[in-house]
Amino acid sequence: MVKSIVRDPAFLEEKSVTATREDLPLAEDLYDTLKAHRLHCAGMAANMIGHRKAIIAVQNGARILVMLNPELIMKGGPYEAEEGCLSLDGQRKALRYQHITVKYLDMKMEPQVGMFSGMVAQAIQHEMDHVQGILI
Ligand SMILES: [Zn+2]
Repeated sequence: MVKSIVRDPAFLEEKSVTATREDLPLAEDLYDTLKAHRLHCAGMAANMIGHRKAIIAVQNGARILVMLNPELIMKGGPYEAEEGCLSLDGQRKALRYQHITVKYLDMKMEPQVGMFSGMVAQAIQHEMDHVQGILI
């Protein structure tokens, strides 16, 4: 189900908690909501649709990748990026990494390890900041 986007910084600045199997319907809603915004939004975190759970969704080529409890296990190639956010106005600078390796659970709650670079890696890092309550 497509949900409305939270823009309240006080809500978004709080850290999210670990997601469980019970949160899979929320992960589906996050997928649907990102799909609805895909032309102007590279990724989304669950708190942006009102739930402080560690779930993110990012556009990965033509598909949408949903990750529960993502953890950065390797990073390389730091650079300064300038990013916008669907929940905030304007653009802000952030330190990002060109190449990252992420451990996460997929929509079947199975553990996965993925290597990403470029735009999708940047989107994952932005959404993982949202999970920590960091607004950029
Ligand atoms: Zn954002």
